[in-house]
Amino acid sequence: MTAKRLLKLLLNVKDAYVDDYDLTLDRNGRLALTVRVHPSKKDQWRCPECGRKCPVYDCVNVESAWRGMDFGSVTVRIVARVPRIECKKHGVLTAMVPWAQSGSRFTRDFISLTAWLVKGGLSKKCVSELLRIDWKTVGRLVKLAWKMLEANPKERYKGLKLIGIDETSYRKGHSYITVVVNHETNTVVWAHKGHGKEVLDLFFKELTREQRESIEVVTGDGARWITDCIREHCPNAKRCVDPFHVVEWANAALDEVRREAWRRALDKVQRIEARIGKEKDEKRKAKLKDKLSKAKDSAEQIKNSRYAVGKNPEHLTARQRTKLELIQAEDGPLARAHAMKEQLRIIFRETDADEAEKSLDAWITRTQRCRIESFVELQRKIARHKEHILNAIRFKASNARIEATNNKIKLLIRVAYGFRNIDSMISLIMLCCSSIKIPLPGREAPQPMKQGVK
Ligand SMILES: [Zn+2]
Repeated sequence: MTAKRLLKLLLNVKDAYVDDYDLTLDRNGRLALTVRVHPSKKDQWRCPECGRKCPVYDCVNVESAWRGMDFGSVTVRIVARVPRIECKKHGVLTAMVPWAQSGSRFTRDFISLTAWLVKGGLSKKCVSELLRIDWKTVGRLVKLAWKMLEANPKERYKGLKLIGIDETSYRKGHSYITVVVNHETNTVVWAHKGHGKEVLDLFFKELTREQRESIEVVTGDGARWITDCIREHCPNAKRCVDPFHVVEWANAALDEVRREAWRRALDKVQRIEARIGKEKDEKRKAKLKDKLSKAKDSAEQIKNSRYAVGKNPEHLTARQRTKLELIQAEDGPLARAHAMKEQLRIIFRETDADEAEKSLDAWITRTQRCRIESFVELQRKIARHKEHILNAIRFKASNARIEATNNKIKLLIRVAYGFRNIDSMISLIMLCCSSIKIPLPGREAPQPMKQGVK
């Protein structure tokens, strides 16, 4: 076998020929292999948009280079002279090359490998170090990978019946993305920057009329714009509010109670300190000091109890459980609020909607009289959304699954931290949460797994 033929096989470029090659040292003093290639006749002069054969517009004298997958420790560059073509439909463009996407300076194999590693959960540092590219570039390649690997975006919208709509914040809550999930396959079908009715309208506009009409159930949080959108675009659908969102509301209300309890505890500390200042009797002073240290301790406990009170009791660590018991004994309202949140959470385990309704009504009546402002407010909100909350149980919109997808998206947003633009973040979500399979270079694409089957 000749060296050129061997290189062609190693580069995994079927529709190109190797002209020559050169081994040099790169800027960092490492070995780098440059391989000059040209596309086969069949693949020359094609439009990058439509793939049609086109006449050459002009020949450029400069070479273009693409980063290929490393050969062991040696970096690889593919170099070629690519003319511009004139497509009747798309105008003058740089001709397509068989080994790379148009506009990209990396080979398809390199892009696939990058996306595969990121999807596999390899850390930012590992991906960058292994591939010798910075994290921003990884972001760009993830975006290209999504474009490259998804043959037909419309495929995602087929057979949608049970969908979930969610907004997720990023950049510390300053920006939002809206995500639409197909609950039956547990895959993300659409994601877009921003939130609100105008953004969600864009999703429904991508669907055909039949597709909109065949949607039966839509879940989401209590946002008004979701309800408005559903009414406008899919009149046949039942609106559901995911119970896990309701528990999130309860946790927010509970956190408010916790902060109030902390303020009360701090007040107590200040009061004791003032008394110590005025106290002349040494014996009584010592007693007060003792009291002060206990009060300080308890304030500190409440301050750091956010996780202990918010977490499901069955997931608490022994230390968190002790802490919870301690502050429950210390602060009455906080203990009551915690109990109310727990009762609410247990109601949502009910699978029978009528039973759930009874329990929820009883909960609402009890909470009305609890005299804790944030929970009275919560109770009003829940009463307002009651029908939609019960719908979630009635139409069996699996709450655990919705929550799992939601958490996965939140995790991906953290992974995407450092990508320069939001499109890269959305691409990462689509790559990791849709049914797209990322093939490893030179291997068969994996068979799509049956989604949503546990
Ligand atoms: Zn074209």
